[in-house]
Amino acid sequence: MRYVSTRGQAPELTFEDAMLTGLARDGGLYVPETIPPLSAEEIAGLAGLSYEEVAFRIMRPFVGDSFDDDTFRGIIARAYDGFGHAARAPLVQLAENHFLLELFHGPTLAFKDFAMQLIGQLFQEALGRRGDRVTIVGATSGDTGSAAIEAFKGLDAVDVFILFPHGRVSEVQRRQMTTPSESNVHALALDGDFDDCQARVKDMFNDFEFRDGVKLAGVNSINWARVLAQVVYYFTAATSLGAPHRKVSFTVPTGNFGDVFAGYIARRMGLPIERLVVATNQNDILHRCISGQGYHKGETRPSISPSMDIQVSSNFERALFFAYDRDGAAVAQLMEELKSGGGFDVSQGALQALQEVYASDRVSEEETSAQIAATRAATGEIICPHTAVAVKVAEDQRTKDTPMITLSTAHPAKFPAAVEDATGVHPPLPPAMSNLYERPERVTRIANDLQTIETHIKEQIAT
Ligand SMILES: *Cc1c(COP(=O)(O)O)cnc(C)c1O
Repeated sequence: MRYVSTRGQAPELTFEDAMLTGLARDGGLYVPETIPPLSAEEIAGLAGLSYEEVAFRIMRPFVGDSFDDDTFRGIIARAYDGFGHAARAPLVQLAENHFLLELFHGPTLAFKDFAMQLIGQLFQEALGRRGDRVTIVGATSGDTGSAAIEAFKGLDAVDVFILFPHGRVSEVQRRQMTTPSESNVHALALDGDFDDCQARVKDMFNDFEFRDGVKLAGVNSINWARVLAQVVYYFTAATSLGAPHRKVSFTVPTGNFGDVFAGYIARRMGLPIERLVVATNQNDILHRCISGQGYHKGETRPSISPSMDIQVSSNFERALFFAYDRDGAAVAQLMEELKSGGGFDVSQGALQALQEVYASDRVSEEETSAQIAATRAATGEIICPHTAVAVKVAEDQRTKDTPMITLSTAHPAKFPAAVEDATGVHPPLPPAMSNLYERPERVTRIANDLQTIETHIKEQIAT
């Protein structure tokens, strides 16, 4: 299995090299050259298997020769061992034909653990046998950073630096990043917003001298291995509701488009997904684009679902690549327009291709809050604000005949203020995390300046 860049100008890589590289050298994102289909029998055969076994069967063809079967099974077993639920991704019914896929039973209580725990084990295995060492940098609006720090802490072949927007992540998110004591993990509070964090990470990757000097690697949602890990739960959820004999739809609370794009891959592999519904908060560039208004940046407005507070959605480039029939030059052109003019319009053909697969809607702050309360009143379930955005969209868009599966991306205790405002109930942390507020914090506040950040990183790895 080979991987190609969405901008068509970077060398083709194996799974292992695409994973260790992250962003392609032409600025693009790696995608598999072909998407291996599963037959209806193979999909039917997944029903009732353990999460780990489904993960092995789904991901195996994408990994190619990078890991042998036994090694890969071991990696998967270690990745999901620390989850707090035997099913890993259990389904809960909300209403007639509406189901919640709970993706928050990992060690940092958000769905990003599914990808990050796997990638931690994959990096450890790959670097260990190469006798190599890398520096991981990542930008986070909250959940990626804590998941990365949790997955990589204490691994001796890796230093991790996470940039988060100072003052714009929840206290639980911040503490999950700043309280691990392992010396190879570093939380950096940047004076700027999430798009600034993301831009500085991109700048570091485009500074080839720095990139090669510190052996930079990325584990942000652009990393193909992360997208791949997320494909698995689309299969476990859909097959437990009757796929491939019955179609299902998914609604996905969306920011950087990694999670919902994994659903697209599942669909291309043959899972009968009728629609992938993209749910955004008031930062609605994706909803505007999918509904035909072009892709034009605005101001990021902080919301009660902060992990979706973005204006530039990095993985959307992958969706565009397929919508433009894998035309890397066309994608490179759009990205150039985005950089120079703050946006671009999507061609009629590409828009049609997007709308065949994706639907979308946006949810206001008031509606989000009201949905948290309404879901509690109707079901007793307490949902996080990101999940509430998606539940609201799913309730509006679901049809009678097709089961709707809404992805529940974080535990409510990660966003206690928003949940308490909406319901009057303070959601408690799970017991394993109950002393989070007593642990000492370790964090460096840093200017939104490439040079300053690069110098800091070089100094830290030297010591
Ligand atoms: C990251 C995140 C999202 C958005 O996921 P993308 O893959 O970036 O679209 C939604 N909800 C929560 C809780 C998250 O942490």
